[in-house]
Amino acid sequence: MTRAAVNKIIPFSAVDGPGNRTAVFLQGCNFDCKFCHNPETIHTCIHCGVCVPYCQPGALTMAEGKVTYNITKCVLCDECFHHCPYGASPRTRQMTAGEVMAEVRKNMPFIRGVTVSGGECTLWRDFLVELLTLAKGEGLHTLLDSNGTYDFSTDRPLMAVTDGIMLDVKAWTGEDHRRVTGADNAMVLRNLRWLAGQGKLPEVRTVVVPGLFDCEQTVRETSILLRELGCLDTRYKIISYRPMGVRQEYKSLEIPTPEFLTCLAHLAQSYGLTDVVII
Ligand code: SF4
Ligand code: SF4
Repeated sequence: MTRAAVNKIIPFSAVDGPGNRTAVFLQGCNFDCKFCHNPETIHTCIHCGVCVPYCQPGALTMAEGKVTYNITKCVLCDECFHHCPYGASPRTRQMTAGEVMAEVRKNMPFIRGVTVSGGECTLWRDFLVELLTLAKGEGLHTLLDSNGTYDFSTDRPLMAVTDGIMLDVKAWTGEDHRRVTGADNAMVLRNLRWLAGQGKLPEVRTVVVPGLFDCEQTVRETSILLRELGCLDTRYKIISYRPMGVRQEYKSLEIPTPEFLTCLAHLAQSYGLTDVVII
């Protein structure tokens, strides 16, 4: 079985899709969002060992050139990734789909489904197919939380075991999107259209950061597109930027006012969207 770097598993989550779900977070991302509140999930650990001496409880040890993480000793003090010069985390476990599913099974029958997030979960495509196949075999609903850079239309095996993709529209224009994430958004918008046609677009999100990109244009054009695609009941989450966990150099990004967020929600609703949520 394929192994993936698992950053964490949240047994019960009410915010990662409909109903109570187990959320699995994988390490590594191909975006570099300025507002990322988990920047330690972006890069993969290169086992340099710099963080090990900062781990007072001894959860980290160096053996044969690799950092080993002992979850039972970890007190979640975050000292390790605060001292990592590479924006990585040693707090990952290389797990097979079967091992992750064993963790998920402990939460049944109190969960409706499984959501795999990240980082960007599609960087671990083979692992996803294996895990979601096991989850479907247990009768669970399966969702992916993706930045939309993976071409889902070309992957029938993955889509056969995925009930839906929760997609971020981080900015509308390519230029704004590159400023926010470091990457273009052509594939994101292509995925949005394709997933809508497949009935597999339960949720779209935009993180609102005034001054970083044109938030109003992004919400307006995304809402218009969802209406054109007949996705009026797709949940549209309008998420306030918050500086918690964000890298020091981006902590001064502007926090939107409640009035501006409400204004954006009304804008989305004015195009007929029925499930607009501000968080
Ligand atoms: S988490 Fe960072 S500092 Fe720690 S071993 Fe990995 S790369 Fe080095
Ligand atoms: S968060 Fe990191 S430094 Fe703190 S106890 Fe856990 S592994 Fe060690």
